[in-house]
Amino acid sequence: MKKLVVDSWTEKKLRKGVQLLDGKDFSDLPFDNQLAELVSKRGDLLGTAYLSPQQKGIGWLISRQRQVLDESYFEDIFQKARAKRQSLEQSERTTAYRLFNQDGDDFGGLTVDRYGDFALFSWYNAFVFSQKEMIIKAFRTVFPDLVGAYEKVRFRGQSYDSAHLYGQEAPPVFSILENGVSYQVFLNDGLMTGIFLDQRPVRQELINGLATGKRVLNLFSYTAAFSVAAAMGGAAETTSVDLAKRSLELSKAHFEANHLRTENHRFVVMDVFSYFKYARRHEQQFELIIIDPPSFARNKKQTFSVQKDYHKLIQEALTLLSPQGTLIASTNASNMTVEQFRKEIEKGFAAQKHHYSKLQQLPSDFAVNKHDERSNYLKVFTIKVK
Ligand code: SAH
Repeated sequence: MKKLVVDSWTEKKLRKGVQLLDGKDFSDLPFDNQLAELVSKRGDLLGTAYLSPQQKGIGWLISRQRQVLDESYFEDIFQKARAKRQSLEQSERTTAYRLFNQDGDDFGGLTVDRYGDFALFSWYNAFVFSQKEMIIKAFRTVFPDLVGAYEKVRFRGQSYDSAHLYGQEAPPVFSILENGVSYQVFLNDGLMTGIFLDQRPVRQELINGLATGKRVLNLFSYTAAFSVAAAMGGAAETTSVDLAKRSLELSKAHFEANHLRTENHRFVVMDVFSYFKYARRHEQQFELIIIDPPSFARNKKQTFSVQKDYHKLIQEALTLLSPQGTLIASTNASNMTVEQFRKEIEKGFAAQKHHYSKLQQLPSDFAVNKHDERSNYLKVFTIKVK
């Protein structure tokens, strides 16, 4: 196995528990897509890593020892991951959740989600992809009860992004349960599946009283999963806004799957910034507004990036919020820290001369690496406005 010497800064980081490797950890990278032993300047073994560039970082530490990758290595990490999620596995009210989450389960670059009786693998770099056969074999030993699997390719270099992987094929669209609520999902249509599993804690809050009796506005609603959860939690009405036309049909399907009548639930296909103007013109007000934009978006007129522009969303949303209303502000931008996100929120409040009485971060749903803030990429605040 090749050896790579790391500087003292990187050594400290790795000893602290960080697993994600950055380009700046190495002065030059002589190779990629293989394993390497990382050693300190003094020559101490720090562990085994694999190097393979992906959207974030250039590789992952996978063990603190000298490690070969074989089936038993993967069986072991899958077994540990399964044990961690026993309570979810036993629940009859939830049949979809993340089974394996990158460095939260001690192997970065791979996630596996469960959707009912099917597994969904996501490969985040070429190295993990190259280990696919072994990973699947180990997975099937630990999860023999899952009847089939699909895959998503989340790095550049393959000619496809979604495919059937093994076992039975799932119906093109089927229902999963989350906290007793039905959602319609699809496993082989692009990179999305109809639901973002990481938002389960938010949907849980919405079911458990946060939305009761309220008029709810759901911005960047995709398939309106938040609106369905709010409706199931007794919301008086919901309005879901998304630019994509296909969101309409998918949103209605979620509502129908739960036998919810759609009279009090509206679906608007519109740019969010145009919707702000429209809603102000019609003097609409909401008691709960949910904001969950993509990290980066471009339309005909403008580009939007969470890092630079989130405050504008807060500022605009505040103009539509009833007195003492609640905002849910969410972002999955991994290039932004919790503190930077909080600052963006505060900038929006300052621009409207508004204040909040309580700002609370919701816990992460997926197992994350506690020693690396970047592992907890999803940041969600509930904000009670004064
Ligand atoms: N909140 C959703 C996920 C949002 S995904 C959920 O929990 O399921 C991001 C969505 O934003 C996509 O559906 C995309 O179509 C939509 N979108 C992107 N730019 C937009 C814009 N300017 N106005 C409205 N919707 C937009």
